[in-house]
Amino acid sequence: MKKQNKGRIKGIKIRTLNYSMIAAAAVLYIILIYATFQVSVKYEKLIKVTEEYISCERDAALVREGSDYLTEQVRLYVITAKPEYMEAYFSEKNDGRRREKALEEMKELGADAEAYGFLKKALDSSNRLTEREIYAMRLIAQSKGDSLESLPQEVRETELLEEDKSMSPGEMADKGQNMVFDFEYQNAKEEIKSSTKHFLDAVMTGMQDKQMGSAQELGRIMTYQRICISALFVLNTITFVLVIVLIVRPLQIYINCIKEEKMLQIAGSYEFKYLALTYNDIYEVNTANEVLLRHRAEHDPLTGVINRGAFEQMRELLKATQKSIALLIIDVDKFKLVNDGYGHEMGDKILRKVAAEIQDEFRGQDYVARIGGDEFAVIMTECTEDLKPVIQKKVESINKRLTHPDDGLPEVSLSIGIAFSPKGFPEELYSMADRALYIVKENGRCGCHFYEEND
Ligand code: GH3
Ligand code: MG
Repeated sequence: MKKQNKGRIKGIKIRTLNYSMIAAAAVLYIILIYATFQVSVKYEKLIKVTEEYISCERDAALVREGSDYLTEQVRLYVITAKPEYMEAYFSEKNDGRRREKALEEMKELGADAEAYGFLKKALDSSNRLTEREIYAMRLIAQSKGDSLESLPQEVRETELLEEDKSMSPGEMADKGQNMVFDFEYQNAKEEIKSSTKHFLDAVMTGMQDKQMGSAQELGRIMTYQRICISALFVLNTITFVLVIVLIVRPLQIYINCIKEEKMLQIAGSYEFKYLALTYNDIYEVNTANEVLLRHRAEHDPLTGVINRGAFEQMRELLKATQKSIALLIIDVDKFKLVNDGYGHEMGDKILRKVAAEIQDEFRGQDYVARIGGDEFAVIMTECTEDLKPVIQKKVESINKRLTHPDDGLPEVSLSIGIAFSPKGFPEELYSMADRALYIVKENGRCGCHFYEEND
């Protein structure tokens, strides 16, 4: 695979993918952390609103309790005229101040204008009621003839109306009692109760809205959180799948290809494809080199036919074969004369020509080898003695062409010794063919002789 082919590789780059996944995960984690933080903020807000709601309810109870306590004390006083009830009344009014404190606290909890209006009304009514209660206590104290100095400051400083001053103690006591038991008193109390209730309802509605808003915000943020977690899950799943498709699977394929000594299949990410193509380039070059080296190791560089080493290997391999074999040992006649007369280079040309002639004449399944300087061998497989005439013809044909050259090369001839084996390549086959060759040389060269037992 050439460089320009690698430039056209298509595939996802692991590096790009990695950066994209990291960026996507980072964004999702940031959103998730922010959402989680927001959840705790909204949750705290919701808790606070709920606590405020509870405080409001508690304060409303305190307003009622404080008011009822004052009513109880003033009523007890106007009936019994015992100073401890007056003391208890003023102690609650000036020190305990449950009612005021609760109303103030509710005001702080964030009442809107409407709610505040109700609160103001409740406080005003409460103050008016207090004035009435103090006046009632003043009447009772007066009816009893208590000295002014012994009374609390508020009672002492309350001036009786002219019409009341002229009343008898009995009438005063009656009026004092009436003032905290009559319909007007009861009405004023109801008014306070109702204003407080309205105020409380308004505050509660606001609180409920706030609570609902906080709960909705919390729900929304939690939805973002769920979306982020789901997206992270999807992202992780995609990452796992991509790791399998782009990395794990190609690695398995590559390992199998390497085990089977095959070229790598182009698969996976851009980087793996690039790696496979590079490996395949090297694989191709190595295979070509191996073929070349093997060819060089087995072939004669001058003539191109197999060399002596390969011929010996062939002999070994064919020893055990069941097939019939014919071995031809071929020697160029008077070759020294060619070298001496025309030079070594011409000698080489002749050797190449001889090799080519032998190869052309024999079958593709026969092995032609150069086994010495001007010596060749042909191993013919599945060849029995009945092919003698065919071989004879082949030898004659070659010698005819070599002795009548039409290529300007000097004429040469070949002497050929032939021996047959009905099965395999026995040790003595070579010496038998060699012996036959010797006989040809002895008998004038340029021809062939088939080995016989008494040779
Ligand atoms: P004979 O008919 O008895 O075979 O006579 P001959 O001259 O051919 O004798 P022999 O076969 O012994 O000689 C072989 C010669 O081949 C000897 C050597 O100079 C020559 N020779 C060996 N290898 C090469 C080669 O690679 N190139 C060339 N040009 N000559 C070679
Ligand atoms: Mg020779």
